[in-house]
Amino acid sequence: MDRNNIAAQGTVLVTGGAGYIGSHAALALKQAGYDVVILDDLSCGHQDLVDSVLKVELIKGDISDRSLLDQLFRDRKIDGIMHFAAYIEVGESVRDPGKYYQNNVFGTLTLLEAAVAADIDKFIFSSTCATYGVPETLPIPDDHPQNPVSPYGTSKLMVEQILDDFEVAHGTRSVCFRYFNAAGADPEGRLGEARAHETHLVPLVLRTAMGKRDFISIYGTDYDTPDGTCVRDYIHVSDLANAHVLGLQYLLKGGKSTKFNLGNGNGFSVKEIIEASKAITGKEFTVKVDDRRPGDAPTLVGSAERATTILGWQPKYADIDSIIAHAWKWHQNRYGA
Ligand code: UDP
Repeated sequence: MDRNNIAAQGTVLVTGGAGYIGSHAALALKQAGYDVVILDDLSCGHQDLVDSVLKVELIKGDISDRSLLDQLFRDRKIDGIMHFAAYIEVGESVRDPGKYYQNNVFGTLTLLEAAVAADIDKFIFSSTCATYGVPETLPIPDDHPQNPVSPYGTSKLMVEQILDDFEVAHGTRSVCFRYFNAAGADPEGRLGEARAHETHLVPLVLRTAMGKRDFISIYGTDYDTPDGTCVRDYIHVSDLANAHVLGLQYLLKGGKSTKFNLGNGNGFSVKEIIEASKAITGKEFTVKVDDRRPGDAPTLVGSAERATTILGWQPKYADIDSIIAHAWKWHQNRYGA
């Protein structure tokens, strides 16, 4: 057996592993031969998916609960942490910033301190392109200045900075992934987006196509973009999940702390997403034009050059049709009659 093989296996704590991106990462970890333990407060996550699809240990609890974390780390040998548990709505973060700083920053700090106390020094963090704020260049490079324009973006940037300080003080090595727009679902339709309070474009469009909503709103048609609607870089959730496995393997092999964009480098407008969804689902539905949503940048597209060159990451489902087709399969499985 080669040494990398031995080093590459281990047990990973996945916080937020019952949620959308975390559950796909847990599945990818299992498929790559790792043991997975999930910590999730089930405020948004789904126990039924952990039990029926992932079939791994689920600890119901909060990342801010230090005694729970100490117990968890005493009882199990954890080799690395993938940290997904967080609040993710930009608009809500503007209305209720304390909720975001409490959970996303204080909760993560508690998790990190418990990890240091338990000698766990490998940490993969879900960051976001929202840490960049309004882009100065497109596609946004990995080293673009970070000036977030929402408490959500600020909360994620604060954790990136805390991780830098923890490396100096405690030797914690980290990989931060700045996601663009996570979308799609497990290609086999086992996992996908299932939020009770949904705000994201692709699942809302597909719920409209299913007849679960009366119409889909386009938030603004007067942006400085080719068709006037906002352009985003949609990235398949299974490609994100695979990047996390590569990030973990990179740290296990001694890689140094690095921050990576994860996007496809291709932008699609809101109108293009709606048209592609109509074509893939074969459904007609009502589309209404609404006001701009506060805080939306006209165009957010990223360059994942660092992930490609350092991790060897290559998205498998970079085309928007696969992303929507997989999400549609999941929606039919989960919500179909
Ligand atoms: N959007 C829209 N209608 C909706 C939901 C979203 O027009 O019902 C737009 C939103 O304004 C943004 C894009 O779709 O320009 C992607 O929004 P989403 O919330 O999915 O992700 P975000 O870019 O905010 O992370």
